[in-house]
Amino acid sequence: MREVLPFPLPDPGEIRRCRAQILAALLAADEGFCAVPVKSVRRSTLQAMLSLYDRLFFGGFLSRFYGTLPVTLSTRLTSAAGKFVYTRGSTPVKAEIRMSGDFLFRLTDGPFQLNGLSVATAQEAFLVVFEHELCHAAEFALYGSTGHSQRFLSLANGLFGHTDTRHSLPTRRSEAAENGLLVGSRVCFPYEGRTLTGTVSYIGKTATVMVPDARGGYRDRRGRRYAKYRVPVALLQKG
Ligand SMILES: [Zn+2]
Repeated sequence: MREVLPFPLPDPGEIRRCRAQILAALLAADEGFCAVPVKSVRRSTLQAMLSLYDRLFFGGFLSRFYGTLPVTLSTRLTSAAGKFVYTRGSTPVKAEIRMSGDFLFRLTDGPFQLNGLSVATAQEAFLVVFEHELCHAAEFALYGSTGHSQRFLSLANGLFGHTDTRHSLPTRRSEAAENGLLVGSRVCFPYEGRTLTGTVSYIGKTATVMVPDARGGYRDRRGRRYAKYRVPVALLQKG
């Protein structure tokens, strides 16, 4: 049984044509976005991206449902390439699509594998990440919740031809893992002329390292005390 959606699903040829049309329009209007690697993305480019997608793929459904749906570029978002966030139970619905500048600005040579597609450039990868977040926005608008269920996958496949929700874009965590650094790794790092040794408890743009310290403010279950340090990943060495 095929469900009736408030927007028609495009065929594969249309998906490619519309995506290419949106990409061309955004590149023509924003020099920073054209650069390799991408230098900057104007706020107007983010809004144009939303309104073009809404018009070409959703027949205006998203703007009818959300009114305004802010699209922002975050350099602090390092754990994901994009994120759909909403406030539960708010009327009118408050939601936002956050795109990670941290991801985008580090992408250089394609092709990139994401959401089951292979895309050639960083700019196209950015669009395909955005498409994934749009599917979350649409699923939430239609059903009041969103995740990576079968329902989500068939929506993402019908709208954009996505066959997966994963990507191979380099994350801070995967880059650190390539250098043998994982949460739980023993590491040392220089600090005020000394070398401290501890255990990694988080990896983002910087790593959090817990260092045994009798006067530290953190205590584990066995009562041992630690001090917490935020350390640039480049300064860490395997301990
Ligand atoms: Zn998702």
